[in-house]
Amino acid sequence: MTLKINRQTIFKRCLKALCPNCGHSKIAHSWIVIHEKCPECSMPIKRGNGFYIGPICLNYGVIAFGIISPLLILGFSKMIPFAWTLSLSVLFSFTLPILFYPISWSLWLMIYYLCLPKELHENRPENSDDLLFDEDERL
Ligand SMILES: [Zn+2]
Repeated sequence: MTLKINRQTIFKRCLKALCPNCGHSKIAHSWIVIHEKCPECSMPIKRGNGFYIGPICLNYGVIAFGIISPLLILGFSKMIPFAWTLSLSVLFSFTLPILFYPISWSLWLMIYYLCLPKELHENRPENSDDLLFDEDERL
C-alpha cells in the first residue's frame, strides 16, 4: 500500500510545526498552547491518554543532557567559573522548557508519524472502520 502522505512530507511538515496530516495549520495555538485537534482537518494533535509523555521526555532529555550536563561539566572542569555554571543552569532549567515546548511537540509528532505513518488519517484506508477522528470513540 502506498502512502498518500510519505515520510518526507511528514518530516518537512513537522520541521515547520505544521499538522503532519494536512500541512495547513500550525500545531500550536500559541507558544504554550498546543491544539487539541488540527483546526483544518480535525486530526487530534493530542491523541489522548499518555501521548503528552513523548514531548515531555524530549523536552527534558534535550535540556538535561544537551544543555545542563555540558554546563556542569564545564563548571566542574573549571573551564568557566562555577558561579556562572550554577546561575546559568538554574536560569536555563526554568526558561528553556518553556521555549522548547512547541518544538518538542513538533519533534514528537515527527518521530511518532515517521515510525507509524499509517496512523495519519490521510494514510488510513478508505474502507477502514477506524476513521473516527476521536481516538477514544475507536475503542
Ligand atoms: Zn491538519
